[in-house]
Amino acid sequence: MSDKFSATRRQMLKGAGAAGLAAAASLVPAGHAAAKRGGRSKAKAPRWAMVFDLRRCVGCRACTVACKAEYDVPLGVWNTVVNEEMVGRYPDTKKPFLPVRCNHCAGNRADGVPPCVKDCPEYPKQRQKYITPDGKKIRYRDGATYKRPDGLILYKNEYCTGCGKCIKACPYGARAFNKRLKAGKDSTKNGITKCTSCAHRIDKGVVPACVNICPGRARVFGDLSDPNSEVSKLAKEFNLVKERDKTTLLPGEDTVPMNFYIDPNKVLKTKMAKKVYKDDSFKCKVN
Ligand code: SF4
Repeated sequence: MSDKFSATRRQMLKGAGAAGLAAAASLVPAGHAAAKRGGRSKAKAPRWAMVFDLRRCVGCRACTVACKAEYDVPLGVWNTVVNEEMVGRYPDTKKPFLPVRCNHCAGNRADGVPPCVKDCPEYPKQRQKYITPDGKKIRYRDGATYKRPDGLILYKNEYCTGCGKCIKACPYGARAFNKRLKAGKDSTKNGITKCTSCAHRIDKGVVPACVNICPGRARVFGDLSDPNSEVSKLAKEFNLVKERDKTTLLPGEDTVPMNFYIDPNKVLKTKMAKKVYKDDSFKCKVN
């Protein structure tokens, strides 16, 4: 990995913004370049996390539109949305915003497997190699739904039978059928869609589309295992990991979500947050 690439990748994933996007987009994947150099350090994948700073979200939905453009999902389906609810009584009213997407759950504390992966009958499948930023290999198994060593919950349509078990298993309603996509193993059914954290961009050192577009910088994405990343600094400042029962959605589900919220106005305690995902107010499914 050249110093130039290394610096640019670091800047992008620490949320340096749109200025470096064009430069970063043309770079080779970090892992492949580093792999040529070898090295002896123990393989360690990043641990991607997203921090939603609710002080900064203005409900513009640029994130929803950027995601829609990136994934081209059908009408009526979104991979990330911003919920809102009017609270209080006139004239003392407020309208908090609550952006949501797949939580890329680490999985419950007993077995570390997210419910969507656990319920997928087409997992595990082939052995794969994940190349870490320092060029090391980590082996893992893919499937129709699987967890990559960097914690991203991804899907492969080639294995998908369109059974919909992952959609039912997700307590956050973060998955939906993609009516434009036939399931790879059963062409009478549809495949699924969900947020992938823009893995295709991250692997090239570029932040997810929703993070890149957010004018308020309300979404911050980065490596939680890097103490110098912006997400780690925010996690430390706001106790996001230590107090995850207060900083994540549906902590009672014990899925260990990797989306954290800076929430001084206690939006996560509103009626909206309690019902979000539980009914159609979470619009990844239907609008
Ligand atoms: Fe799976 Fe749902 Fe958790 Fe995403 S939010 S990892 S789809 S259980």
